[in-house]
Amino acid sequence: MAMSAENEHPVKAFGWAARDCSGHLSPFKFSRRVTGEKDVTFKVLYCGICHSDLHNVKNEWGTTSYPVVPGHEIVGVVTEVGTKVTKFKVGDKVGVGCLVGSCLSCANCKEDLENYCPKMILSYGSKFHDGTITYGGYSDNMVSDEHFVIKIPDNLPLDGTAPLLCAGITVYSPLKYYGLDKAGMHLGVVGLGGLGHMAVKFAKAMGLKVTVISTSPNKKKEAMDRLGADGFLISRNTEEMQLAMGTMDGIIDTVSAVHALLPLIGLLKSHGKLVLVGAPEKPLELLSAPLLMGRKIVGGSLIGGIKETQEMIDFAAKHDIVADIELIPMDYVNTAMERLSKADVKYRFVIDIANSLKSS
Ligand SMILES: [Zn+2]
Ligand SMILES: [Zn+2]
Repeated sequence: MAMSAENEHPVKAFGWAARDCSGHLSPFKFSRRVTGEKDVTFKVLYCGICHSDLHNVKNEWGTTSYPVVPGHEIVGVVTEVGTKVTKFKVGDKVGVGCLVGSCLSCANCKEDLENYCPKMILSYGSKFHDGTITYGGYSDNMVSDEHFVIKIPDNLPLDGTAPLLCAGITVYSPLKYYGLDKAGMHLGVVGLGGLGHMAVKFAKAMGLKVTVISTSPNKKKEAMDRLGADGFLISRNTEEMQLAMGTMDGIIDTVSAVHALLPLIGLLKSHGKLVLVGAPEKPLELLSAPLLMGRKIVGGSLIGGIKETQEMIDFAAKHDIVADIELIPMDYVNTAMERLSKADVKYRFVIDIANSLKSS
């Protein structure tokens, strides 16, 4: 018989978990392994709420095993390091994103692309090397092999930095990989939410001209005045969309609901790239003729490798980029999930773990 979550490891841990597909989160006692030779253990200070946490607690992808402690935008301060740890010391500010393990020997891992390793181990709800299930950052402490730990520079505020570990890298990585990081290029960003607002910030810092494409006209002022976008298109306004045809080098499409790709492909110049980072549950319609005419590409991208995640954090530190957040106490999490399902947040909820997670 499997040991209980509370007793399977020696180190006590406390967090909030969902027990069934209602997705309702409540206090949960569990345990974590002792700090191994190459492990970094840290006190969790903040954890972002990613949209995939919402999918997971409600088992909307059919892959959840309960109880699930979500959270993969985790930041904190190192409390213990293993004897063979070289990159970190007690007191360092660190973060862990979506990954806590991979095989480290496949072709992808050798290229620092642990995020495409067939054996990648997710920060929560995944089976770890020892056979136990991983638990995420809605909890008081965290332990990870140092390979998967990110160093957070001192000038970055930790609360706003947490969402960079998923939302940030999810948009940064395709900008780099698809060559959409050259100053002067014109980038479209579809959807102004957790991912979209980060795409605007990174692209502006890289010197791009950025146009936000949204269904909500009321986001225009926000996008242009506060986030610094250069343009704004209302996707339903065919006249506006028509005028912008053939003007963009690339588009980062963050929308996770079924939507039309054809108008977006029309916005691209020849050789333009439409990159999807959202994952709608149903197939999207893709007509090939508009791709042929202009040799356009539709591609995808999933988070980023550890080396690139560190590069993204260092870039963010250099350009003072953090996520726009609403800081919430732990016991607000169910309300936050409810609001997140209605896209009622600017632009990321972050849980103030250290100040509000009470074990009694
Ligand atoms: Zn995420
Ligand atoms: Zn691998």
